[in-house]
Amino acid sequence: MVIYDLICDSSHTFEGWFKDASDFESQQSSSMILCPFCDSELVTKKLAAPKLSRKSNSVPQQQQVATGDRTAEAFAQLQDMLGRVHTFIEKNFEDVGNRFAEEALSIHRGEREDENIRGTASVEELKQLAEEGVTSMTLPPKPINKKKLN
Ligand SMILES: [Zn+2]
Repeated sequence: MVIYDLICDSSHTFEGWFKDASDFESQQSSSMILCPFCDSELVTKKLAAPKLSRKSNSVPQQQQVATGDRTAEAFAQLQDMLGRVHTFIEKNFEDVGNRFAEEALSIHRGEREDENIRGTASVEELKQLAEEGVTSMTLPPKPINKKKLN
């Protein structure tokens, strides 16, 4: 049994129940589907918003965000700290870009020199790394310096 959202030529929307997709098509082509509101035979499937295919347990990615009064001390301190975190990382960690997961694994397995690395990884990759016993940290994004933007 399939349920379709249907729409007639006068924009009435209603649900139609069919045995399967071909049942809908044969009923539609022989004008057997009537709009319950105006008896129109010109009924089509309402286009549903495309459903994003998501892996079962993944949630849409959200960033944690904080904001505040730019002149307030706490917010200024936070920006300053984040800035320093990034400076520290840039100085002390080698940038391996999108090879992060690969490199982290080979360090973990002792296949390459042990060193501090940074780069980008997907949530999926981080999960795999964690399963292998590699601990990594997701870094807060670099604070955007408004002065530099303008
Ligand atoms: Zn109608």
